[in-house]
Amino acid sequence: MWVKKTPAEQATSEIRNKRIQLRAAMIYPAVLILIVTIIYTFTYPRLGSIRNGGAFLVPQNQWLTQLPSAFIVGVLIGVGTFVMMLYPKKSPKITLICPECGAVKVDDEITSCSCSGHFVDIKTMKWVEDEPPLRP
Ligand SMILES: [Zn+2]
Repeated sequence: MWVKKTPAEQATSEIRNKRIQLRAAMIYPAVLILIVTIIYTFTYPRLGSIRNGGAFLVPQNQWLTQLPSAFIVGVLIGVGTFVMMLYPKKSPKITLICPECGAVKVDDEITSCSCSGHFVDIKTMKWVEDEPPLRP
């Protein structure tokens, strides 16, 4: 059954969610920086390839000169991604649950449930297994 989390449990899960969000916001941009740097070091972007007679791969003797600008492009994309992940434009959708019947829905500002219960933010609730019936 669904029961309300204590304030301490709510604080703990909020901290844990923030940590997961921050870790993701650091890992994905770092991977992006690496991928973009590799792609731009070894291959020409579209305009470059037209200028270079349709060549796709950067000649080996130009890798070192290509690397700094490739890294800068990678960092710009990575930082942009980091900022967008930490401060998303759209606020995340809040999931509501009815503790009485277990119905779940996205917040639409209607808090009454068809079972006569009331929807609450699922982040404030936790699932606990029902006590097994006592044996006579
Ligand atoms: Zn309900």
